[in-house]
Amino acid sequence: MLPRRHHELPPTAGLPLRPSDLLPGAPTLAADIAALLDTPPLQLECSGTAALLIALTTLREMQPQRGRVVVSAFTCPLVAIAVQQAGLELQLCDLRHGHYDMDPAALRAACDERTLAIMPTHLAGRVADVDDALAVARQVGAYVIEDAAQALGARRDGVSVGLAGDVGFFSLAAGKGLSIYEGGLLLARDPSLRERLAHTAARLVPRRPGWEWKRHIELLGYAALYRPWGLRLAYGNPLRRALRRGDPVAAVGDDFPLTIPLHRVGRWRQAVGAHAAVRLPAFLDRLSAQAQRRLSRLRQIGGVEVFDDDDGARGTWPFLLLLLPDRQRRDAALAQLWPSGYGVSRLFIHALPDYAYLAGIVPAQDVPHARDFAARSLTLGNSPWMTEADFEAVCAALEAVLR
Ligand SMILES: *Cc1c(COP(=O)(O)O)cnc(C)c1O
Repeated sequence: MLPRRHHELPPTAGLPLRPSDLLPGAPTLAADIAALLDTPPLQLECSGTAALLIALTTLREMQPQRGRVVVSAFTCPLVAIAVQQAGLELQLCDLRHGHYDMDPAALRAACDERTLAIMPTHLAGRVADVDDALAVARQVGAYVIEDAAQALGARRDGVSVGLAGDVGFFSLAAGKGLSIYEGGLLLARDPSLRERLAHTAARLVPRRPGWEWKRHIELLGYAALYRPWGLRLAYGNPLRRALRRGDPVAAVGDDFPLTIPLHRVGRWRQAVGAHAAVRLPAFLDRLSAQAQRRLSRLRQIGGVEVFDDDDGARGTWPFLLLLLPDRQRRDAALAQLWPSGYGVSRLFIHALPDYAYLAGIVPAQDVPHARDFAARSLTLGNSPWMTEADFEAVCAALEAVLR
């Protein structure tokens, strides 16, 4: 067993907030991010899931005869909840074996004239195969929604993710890079679709000051505790309690409420995000350099498979996604590493059909490759607070398990 690290490392590299970020300022978050990423105007919503819900509602109104959304079987449970809340039917697509992308044959089998949208997912900051989704979408007349919740700042051929499809969204939730505790950004290439998305939000999203006050407090707590000495309290101790109870779903925070709150994001949180966004490009560059160094080290460990950018892609690196040869060895590695404070974790615990609490929402479909991915994957946090010695300790633990 690794000795417990004194200061807890986070499982994902968030951009730490500074006290000066919390001062009042101009609420220019969406415009500032659009300028950083060279995108058309972005629409700020109260979460990535809320952004998705608004996108789905809008597309449904444009194609009311279509009611199905095709989603990767290994993704965030919130995606399934948003599809349900939009009054649409979820259709799962299995993964390619040993990969996070949707399987091309399974995708074609899942899509027909009932398909409203196909959702490729830029998982773990990696740039997904949107082209294949676009090809299938064109054949059946569906839309493509890019789930870029984990990939703010990722590009393909110099263009931000989210712009190849019809709609895209980013998450600004705690632990996803740039955070205002909860928030989401919608993007769309087509100006008339952007106008429709804005109309849907104006109609659907109420002000609800109670929610915004709650988020103020949560953002202050996040700003205070997302640092080496605060993370044990805010993250590590609850994680270890959940693991002791044998509840991995709670350990990674996959246990979401089944109703998505909708409310407007207030000026103060927008100003906080705008202050922090100035540091985002340098932060992402630093994470990328660190990830590349660490990937080369991980490639030397026989039995570890890493995911890197392919040609033309420049993803983001909130954490490193790894596959081990089988569930036994993945679990053996996690038994040592997960509770020990090094920021090692899992992405999603299950393939979507295997979350008991989603049984009423997710069809009981056989998705063997998604199940295999859930069983063999683990993540290494890529926080700048993780030193070379920390990283070597994690590598040594992986080597011991894989020997
Ligand atoms: C987090 C996440 C979402 C939802 O974003 P929130 O801002 O947390 O609502 C959607 N999809 C994926 C892949 C995610 O990781």
